[in-house]
Amino acid sequence: MTTIQGRTGEWEIVIGLEVHAQAVSEAKLFSGASTAFGAAPNSQVSLVDAAMPGMLPVINRKCVEQAVRTGLGLKAKINRRSIFDRKNYFYPDLPFGYQISQYQHPIVGEGEVVLDMPDGSTKTVGIERLHLEQDAGKSLHDQDPKRTFVDLNRAGVALMEIVSKPDMRSADEAAAYLSKLRAILRYLGTCDGNMEQGSMRADVNVSVRKPGDPLGTRCEIKNINSVRFARQAIDYEAARQVEILEDGGSIDQETRLFDSDKGETRPMRSKEEAHDYRYFPDPDLLPLELDPDWIAEIEASLPELPDAKKARYVAEMGVPAETAATLVADKPLADYFERVAEGRKDAKTAANWVVNELVARLSKAGQDIETAPVSAADLGGLLDLVDDGTISGRIAKDVFDAMIETGKPAAVLVEEKGLKQISDTGEIEGIIDGLIADNPAQVAQVKESPKVAGWFVGQVMKATKGQANPQVVNQILAKKLGL
Ligand code: ADP
Ligand code: MG
Repeated sequence: MTTIQGRTGEWEIVIGLEVHAQAVSEAKLFSGASTAFGAAPNSQVSLVDAAMPGMLPVINRKCVEQAVRTGLGLKAKINRRSIFDRKNYFYPDLPFGYQISQYQHPIVGEGEVVLDMPDGSTKTVGIERLHLEQDAGKSLHDQDPKRTFVDLNRAGVALMEIVSKPDMRSADEAAAYLSKLRAILRYLGTCDGNMEQGSMRADVNVSVRKPGDPLGTRCEIKNINSVRFARQAIDYEAARQVEILEDGGSIDQETRLFDSDKGETRPMRSKEEAHDYRYFPDPDLLPLELDPDWIAEIEASLPELPDAKKARYVAEMGVPAETAATLVADKPLADYFERVAEGRKDAKTAANWVVNELVARLSKAGQDIETAPVSAADLGGLLDLVDDGTISGRIAKDVFDAMIETGKPAAVLVEEKGLKQISDTGEIEGIIDGLIADNPAQVAQVKESPKVAGWFVGQVMKATKGQANPQVVNQILAKKLGL
């Protein structure tokens, strides 16, 4: 937990997130129109989406399946019976004059998300509910100086709104929550998690309180579309509220917008202006009744999820928890690691190479794991050369650089560049004998100051361009210098 230090003492930040995740489905929630991203405006609009009179919505089974699948992945209660309601409001990009959503009877109830914090600790955040609803269209204000256009391609696309409990206590925790939720959705294949394209957006609720006090009044910051912006918005908003409260003011419950250029939040509408949505059950749709066998079938088809994968890496493969958390956060990275570790005895070393050496080199080269110029098999080959003593761990890092650059396998590069480790005791002894003969002062010092032994190791490495086997060097030095 991080607190804000104010003039009147410490303040605790309280955060709850409402995430809108677009369900992966070729068609919309209640129509057969396509959901493909990037199509020409209004080219993917059925008569239902355009709210033509007399059109009736028909529920898309795939979207329901995705919501159930997500609920199961969040270890949540699946409600066998749920109800679609009309949420009434006027907006130019909402041709019906209402959004079909779920209110009192959502499809998914309480669940949880386990956060992996950077220090290796974990924290569980409660999920309040998940409901299905339609997305609205989009008003385009930048196409014409005088007029606003409306694009209805998004209208009717299925969203899963995932509401957390107010369980987060810092911007770090909110960021960890968004990352973890996105990872789970991607593992499940229920949302692509692409925040830049708008397929995952968050409304961020923030309040502050003195530790131990009841929850304070919250503000809701709408439509945040990156983890970085969520952090900035939370830190700005919490500081703003503390300042008001310390000046003796009070917080108005309101909806705010985040201005990413200025890094500030500003008011959008206050509670007094808040909508009365006049929710009522949509008479065009029957209650949604789920067959328990179908739910069981979906459950049986779930993949291994990040938490289970992480636990397996730690317990069965000896990978440290923090490293395991980094690996499982990105499924392609976890898959890559498993291919490197496959059939090799030291999974921990493989994990370190993937998380530290590979990821750093990929980001430097502007690549990601899916375009990695070195295959998992080739990285495994490099580790084998270290393992059998052909090259040292230090040389291996240079070889890896060359692999990234050329795409050639380790064995070929080691051969080409003559990088084989020198383990021949005779050759190393010769070099050490020479050093002892030429440096009597250091030889005299070495007994008092063990640091001087390091100087000898350095000289041997210099003489062999780093290729002497360090273990052999240490053994011979210990013997010759009587350490
Ligand atoms: P509403 O239905 O009015 O939007 P909810 O009770 O459903 O309100 O809460 C919406 C979101 O706000 C949830 O994610 C919840 O965790 C969060 N939240 C509720 N109270 C607070 C609070 N005092 N501080 C921060 N977040 C809160
Ligand atoms: Mg809400």
